[in-house]
Amino acid sequence: METTKRLTASSCDGPVPSDFLLQYNPADWMKQLQLIPKYRVKLVHGVTPIQRWYLPNVPANFEIHIKRDDLTGCELSGNKARKLEFLLADAINQGCTSVITCGSSQSNHCRATAIAARQLGLEPHLLVRSPVSDPNEVVCTANMFLNRLIGAHIYLLPKTSHIITDITPRMDQLVQKIKEETGEKAYPITLGGSTAVGLYGYLEGFRELLDQGVADQFTDIVITCGSSGSAAGLALANYLTGSRLKVHGFIVAYDSKFHHKWINDVYKEVDAKDSNGEVLQSEDIVNLVDGVIGGGHHHSTQEQLDLVGEVCTKTGIIIDPVYTGKSVFHLLRLLKEQPQLFKGNKVLFIHTGGLFGLFDGRMDETLKQMGTERNQFHEWMELSDQAPNLNL
Ligand SMILES: *Cc1c(COP(=O)(O)O)cnc(C)c1O
Repeated sequence: METTKRLTASSCDGPVPSDFLLQYNPADWMKQLQLIPKYRVKLVHGVTPIQRWYLPNVPANFEIHIKRDDLTGCELSGNKARKLEFLLADAINQGCTSVITCGSSQSNHCRATAIAARQLGLEPHLLVRSPVSDPNEVVCTANMFLNRLIGAHIYLLPKTSHIITDITPRMDQLVQKIKEETGEKAYPITLGGSTAVGLYGYLEGFRELLDQGVADQFTDIVITCGSSGSAAGLALANYLTGSRLKVHGFIVAYDSKFHHKWINDVYKEVDAKDSNGEVLQSEDIVNLVDGVIGGGHHHSTQEQLDLVGEVCTKTGIIIDPVYTGKSVFHLLRLLKEQPQLFKGNKVLFIHTGGLFGLFDGRMDETLKQMGTERNQFHEWMELSDQAPNLNL
């Protein structure tokens, strides 16, 4: 790949990052934590609504509501916008002019980071796990389309690259390279932004839920878990505020062992303590659920794809095959087969977004199946003699 390309923002036109920094005021219950951010940037649009969700085949004694974090924005839609408010503020506060992150080629996190970076005047770099190594063969659909549209720097890594052993060291290497070539600082953001700083996204998210009265109205929270930062924030906030909801993380990448360890490392970093003064254990405050993935992170069964179509058709709420679709599929199964896993019967599902993931073609065949309920083509109607003649 060419190395002569400009790696950081030019000093002339474009947004000025420091203009976007806002003072951050933590809630009282957060103040016992370490690494409380000084600044945030505003990326989330307003307070996202909570509404009843009439999912098909919910057992009669359960009631499902949905927190519309798919509406945090348009191009920045989804849960990543909340974490990026703190991560990118940290980057700017540290004087960085570039951000580096990683993910799969259709990663929502990469897309959200790249777009937010551009809006704030930061140069985005993406380390992408890709099935192809030739840039000419990289797709131009869905999230990758947007990455390319906003001119993110893209580095293709083998699809099998491991986050800890392959990707993290390469991000550090890129930080060095940018420093050497441009003299400027780059800010690395690991997997899904699930760091001690990113954690504040869903501590703040829970604060919003409390303001919406969630603690009194619901018994359980269900969120899709990919890199676990969102679940980690909700569970910690739930604990620190004494809210007593049961927080469930439905795992769609890696497994519960990986995520408990990841979350415990983050809790240790912010020095989160339980009521005995011991470091809080993820295992004690969040129910991480395996068995949601199905055939693999990027693979959906036909049954799962059919459910995505059915939920979109019946409720008008758009879910995606990789994240929320798998969670809803599993939620419906658990409500029926293991209702005792839930603390009560009022469940709040956090819609984490992922809309653009639908545009990568994986649902196309499912939608095209003729004769299905979704494929609603009708024959053209001949006008009857009684139709008014408008003499146009
Ligand atoms: C990233 C993502 C998740 C997972 O959130 P984590 O905080 O990484 O666990 C869930 N849903 C969607 C649509 C996502 O993009």
